[in-house]
Amino acid sequence: MTSTTKLHFDTLAVRAAVAPSQYGENSEALYLTSGYVQGTAQQSADRFAGLEEGYTYSRGGNPTVTSMELRLAALEGTESCIATSSGMSAIMLLCFSLLKSGDHVVYSQSVFGSTLKLIGSEFARFGVESTTVPQTDLAAWQQAVRPNTKLLFAETPTNPLGEVCDIAALADISHRANALLAVDNCFASPALQRPTEFGADIVMHSGTKYLDGQGRVMAGALCASTAMVKEKFLPVMKNCGMVLSPFNAWVVLKGMETLSLRMRAQSEQALALAHWLERHAAVAKVYYPGLSSHAQHDLAMRQMSGYGGAVLSFDVTAASPEQARARAFTVLDNLQTVSRCTNLGDTKTLLTHPASTSHGKLSEAQRQAAGIGQGLIRVAVGLEHLDDIQADLLRGFEALL
Ligand SMILES: *Cc1c(COP(=O)(O)O)cnc(C)c1O
Repeated sequence: MTSTTKLHFDTLAVRAAVAPSQYGENSEALYLTSGYVQGTAQQSADRFAGLEEGYTYSRGGNPTVTSMELRLAALEGTESCIATSSGMSAIMLLCFSLLKSGDHVVYSQSVFGSTLKLIGSEFARFGVESTTVPQTDLAAWQQAVRPNTKLLFAETPTNPLGEVCDIAALADISHRANALLAVDNCFASPALQRPTEFGADIVMHSGTKYLDGQGRVMAGALCASTAMVKEKFLPVMKNCGMVLSPFNAWVVLKGMETLSLRMRAQSEQALALAHWLERHAAVAKVYYPGLSSHAQHDLAMRQMSGYGGAVLSFDVTAASPEQARARAFTVLDNLQTVSRCTNLGDTKTLLTHPASTSHGKLSEAQRQAAGIGQGLIRVAVGLEHLDDIQADLLRGFEALL
């Protein structure tokens, strides 16, 4: 690829990559190599000194990984991207690269559970301070900012309730405080939402989710300016080594070719399922940004290209928390076609009970504060026929009668 600037998203999704090798392969090559032969000793010296571009060792770069980075940067509309071994290692790289002891981070209390632990517990051991705020309360984000605040970290929409925060407003708050805004874009993916268009400085991904989209590999990435990637992230990556394997990069690279098709199809299917669930007597409430009943529906539609994403949650009707848990388990245990699986971003539909899995370590009070009841079921909607997904859920709903 020479110039990617004039091409459309769907074209970039299949075309952005490093140039083919001398063999002219049409599908991007998988370069399984840890080292690279140098033409001359001088060339080797120049590459190590950073005077010449070129590969030396795969902890510092690999052509297949570069293809994945070029493609994701093109889709996010950022100058550059650096791939990591998982989504969590992308956040670790972000924090290691941008923060030091005494710095402060503001982030939502509804972010991914391991993100809460990584920033709030692991980095706290090294003197990084942090404050959590309610996802959608802009005044709380503003009030949490201190003179030593260096980073605001947002995830939108969130797991499992699909709460949406206003990226443009958070970018404003960050930039007035001379801090950076990073956005976890796992749930929407660049097919639906490009956070830098709203002013975010860094986009973080778990490639494990919709970028691969077929539940095969772990991967992660940070998308940002070339200056930030080259000067901040890459040096830390070379010393820490949470690199993405070329094989996993290749899988994600090929996954991205169908990203927008999948995101649109799975979002449409999620919306249809959400409407159907809203009408069912066994369902007390449905949480999905694509529904007009959702508190941030208008904002979600503006920020997410008119789609709600592929993840929805619902509460089963129940008289008490104990009964709610038992009823949710009944629904899950009657599934025959779709999966009981605590993952998302797959072509297969995956259902999970957040209160006993992803949010199982929270106290009941913390769970209540987060709005995650014992009757809540999350559905990461896949590509099976809608009738079959509904039939699977109906088996469970009928068992509740
Ligand atoms: C899965 C996920 C992560 C972590 O990614 P891994 O690839 O599992 O390390 C971070 N944020 C969100 C929103 C996720 O869904």
